[in-house]
Amino acid sequence: MSTAPVLEVRDLCVSYGKVEALHHVSLKVETGQIVTVIGPNGAGKTTLLSAIMGVLPRSQGEIAYLGHAQREIEVERMVAQGMTLVPESRALFGEMTVEDNLLLGAFMRHRLGHRDERATMAQVFEIFPRLRERHTQMAGTLSGGERQMLAVGRALMARPRLLLLDEPSLGLAPLIVREIFRIVADLKKSGVAVLLVEQNARAALQIADYGYVLETGEVAISGPSDQLQDDPKVIESYLGLG
Ligand code: ATP
Repeated sequence: MSTAPVLEVRDLCVSYGKVEALHHVSLKVETGQIVTVIGPNGAGKTTLLSAIMGVLPRSQGEIAYLGHAQREIEVERMVAQGMTLVPESRALFGEMTVEDNLLLGAFMRHRLGHRDERATMAQVFEIFPRLRERHTQMAGTLSGGERQMLAVGRALMARPRLLLLDEPSLGLAPLIVREIFRIVADLKKSGVAVLLVEQNARAALQIADYGYVLETGEVAISGPSDQLQDDPKVIESYLGLG
């Protein structure tokens, strides 16, 4: 018996007013996979994540999460069922401590009756020892890399089955990018599926199982990451010479 993919997007079109930002996008994330969507600024990556999360309406297509079709604007159900977004802005509460930001990540689980946030926080601190060291610090005073760690850590507090990451490398030094990506790659071992949206195609393809290249709202190329890394067009447009 085959199990349904964690996420399946079929023929998705999304418009802002009269302007269509996504044209017939289809993609899949299987259990235990890291799937990346790479593409330049304005390609529609954030729009794609917003539609998947059930925040934006779609003009056409279907989104199935854990084998169930998503109706329009279902963000609350998506969150309750373990889909968690780490937005590009990181959207932290700067005037609150690291620890309180983390606790907010468990809000929905708490509402659903789970009382395991302290144990989950201990696991998050195992993954990000830097956050444990700084648990009483105000989030607004963290460095860029630490903020990204906190954003991912807060998402993990929801014990996600599918983590949607919007450009986690944005604005970070290469060493920190490597650290964040190593942690994302490790998450796979704990059974979390990841949809990783990135402009940093090199780093993303290194950890992903499968990739999609999004250009002006359309999937231009897709395939296993190792194939994409060898694809002349991907090399020329996204991997450069370095
Ligand atoms: P970036 O990497 O720069 O964040 P992106 O690939 O995430 O880009 P989107 O932010 O999804 O791209 O934008 C896709 C297109 O939709 C762009 O042309 C953008 O201007 C447009 N767009 C995004 N949000 C809105 C909005 N709220 N209203 C109108 N147009 C929008």
